[in-house]
Amino acid sequence: MIETLEGQFSGRLITATDDVAPFLTDWRKTWTGTAIGVAQPDSAEDVARVVRWCAAHRVAIVPQGGNTGQSGGSVPEATGTNLVLSLTRMNRIRAIDPANDTIAVDAGCVLQSVQAAADGVERYFPLSLGAEGSCTIGGNLATNAGGTAVLRYGNARDLCLGLEVVTAAGEIWDGMKALRKDNSGYDLRDLFIGSEGTLGVITGAVLKLFPKPAGRATAFAGVASVADAMAVFAEVRARAGARLTGFEMLSEACLSLVLDHVPGARRPLVAVAPWYVLIALSDSESEDTARAALEGALAGALAAGLLTDAAIAVSEAQARAFWMVRESVSPAQGAAGPAIKHDIAVPVSAIAAFVEDALAAAEAAFPGLRPVTFGHLGDGNLHFNFSPAPGMDRAAFLALQPALNAVVHAKVRAYRGTISAEHGLGVLRRDEAHAARSPVERALMASIKAAFDPQGIMNPAKLLG
Ligand code: FAD
Repeated sequence: MIETLEGQFSGRLITATDDVAPFLTDWRKTWTGTAIGVAQPDSAEDVARVVRWCAAHRVAIVPQGGNTGQSGGSVPEATGTNLVLSLTRMNRIRAIDPANDTIAVDAGCVLQSVQAAADGVERYFPLSLGAEGSCTIGGNLATNAGGTAVLRYGNARDLCLGLEVVTAAGEIWDGMKALRKDNSGYDLRDLFIGSEGTLGVITGAVLKLFPKPAGRATAFAGVASVADAMAVFAEVRARAGARLTGFEMLSEACLSLVLDHVPGARRPLVAVAPWYVLIALSDSESEDTARAALEGALAGALAAGLLTDAAIAVSEAQARAFWMVRESVSPAQGAAGPAIKHDIAVPVSAIAAFVEDALAAAEAAFPGLRPVTFGHLGDGNLHFNFSPAPGMDRAAFLALQPALNAVVHAKVRAYRGTISAEHGLGVLRRDEAHAARSPVERALMASIKAAFDPQGIMNPAKLLG
């Protein structure tokens, strides 16, 4: 049957088992599915043709970008009946309008290439995350990605003005507006953002650009506790104001993992501390003003006894080395062995109490597990992960996952937080999120899905229960 699709579009259709294989497993190697093939369209019209063919034959579609998602949303089901729709050949920068501070791109553009295109016209595209060399704008928007500059610039949703989407019926919706204000009815764009491919296929986007920061300053500092880290955050925010771009945290256990598993990684500070924060400021005036603001904030924190040690990067290379440590925690944990991961957020004001409370609950329930706690502290978003206790059998550790999730997520609920802050629900958090919804929320979500995708062919079994 798949052969009947081949002649209908100008993109590439992959069906040979070996060639399809790389599209069937996620980045974490946690989920593997099967598929009748992989379609790699070149244009929105191509995507529309594929979707119309799928709608006619009731074939389920799994949109896929860089396949770096952390929740299994880009992996086909095990039924062997899905078609993977890979957007990576759609990678053109369509237009840049520096006067409007916008860029229009194909959804398959790799995030880093969009950052580079903005840089080429002396502008800045601030979305930034560890997978930026592989993840695509379509995937960033479909998961409403966060990353390391949310404090100043917001998440993917905040950075998007317009979308082009192929609907489940195979029609092209042209919502490529480049407007900062538009109150003309239901916001379809915002429904597609964060919908993880379950409502339609994003084929293009208009994104916001910003003035390039004239200067940056980056510091790495040790703190005795998460409460102290939050006090440092308050100090930096009060003194640096809008210059504060990123405020990240990692534990000593995270740093040790990076030093053990990432070639070239170095300890950023001489003194060992239980926790570290990475603070990034950007400034529209100059490097000097950014640095002066950071020095002032750190001096205030030191005087208040909040820091055990601190270093401000003296070069771009040193700043990159600080970031490399932070961004290597996830890959280092993967290299070290199995991991049980949680992508949680609680109100920023509650994060210190949450960490203390949730770590104590996990230790009480499963003594000896190694917490690997790191993340975007300034956003209230932590990757609250665990590695096995020393010497623990892999299978025995992984068997703890449902019970450990229950312990951590009960604490998240107690603090009125979320069990998916930036990675989406995919299959990983689908059922738990569904169970936690009120009947009214479930009904509203189901009716949105039915309105956009009445046949249920868009990324089935993802996001919704
Ligand atoms: P994929 O993994 O291919 O797909 C993800 C989901 O989006 C799937 O449900 C898929 O069906 C859907 N999708 C993809 N493209 C489209 C499209 N064009 N139309 C409709 N649906 C589509 N995430 C963060 O938010 N913050 C981080 O800091 C962060 N750090 C990371 C660090 C590392 C090392 C890694 C590996 C991942 C990290 N991630 C982070 C997760 C991941 O990179 C993001 O979720 C990213 O946005 C996914 O983009 P992708 O193109 O790889 O999407």
